[in-house]
Amino acid sequence: MSYVLIVEDETHLAEGLRFNLEAEGYEVDVAVDGRSAVDRLLGGERRYDLVVLDLMLPERNGLEVARRVRAAGNFVPILILTAKDAASDVVRGIEEGGDDYMTKPFILAELLARVRALLRRRRWDGGSGGEDELREVSFADVRVHFDRFEIERGDETIQLTIREAALLRALIEREGRAVTRGELLEVVWGLRPDTNTRVVDSFIARLRRYIEEDPSRPRHILSVRGHGYKFVR
Ligand code: CA
Repeated sequence: MSYVLIVEDETHLAEGLRFNLEAEGYEVDVAVDGRSAVDRLLGGERRYDLVVLDLMLPERNGLEVARRVRAAGNFVPILILTAKDAASDVVRGIEEGGDDYMTKPFILAELLARVRALLRRRRWDGGSGGEDELREVSFADVRVHFDRFEIERGDETIQLTIREAALLRALIEREGRAVTRGELLEVVWGLRPDTNTRVVDSFIARLRRYIEEDPSRPRHILSVRGHGYKFVR
């Protein structure tokens, strides 16, 4: 059973989503403002498997919800909903840790497909990526379990969000090669390579905190001046 939290202040839309997600077999709760969404996600009894997060909300907006949830170390997959004329919101949502995004009005079948994909990636129930899918990588005192979205380092275990794992995977798969920010934006987030955002750099900073002994002097995720980043074992 997967638990989904819908955060949406338009009641008819929230109830429509609830109806359709329940029909797919999910257990669904609705939060109608940002404050109660944060309360449910960080203080509630239920551990959610996915959040559908509208950005325009009363109390706290969706960006703030995403920021607080990630700052608290909660790695729940977040699917962001934004109005169609607010493209910059998509980028900001991703910078705050959103894993996927759709613009309103959306096609229901597509939303349901993305929900399924996010939940499947979270569980990694096999079959999604095939035999050549990278599952585990070790270097220095770090062991990355892509199948569990976890990094083990010494006796510490760090949970990764879907996009953190995707970025690390993209770098490791291109080991030894300098990869541009644009290529990473495209491969990891499905954004145009020329999108104006610092998301790659801020996610790299996070990955370095997870895997580098001294994040200010990285030995595995190297900066390539004027170009991008390179992973070396
Ligand atoms: Ca709204």
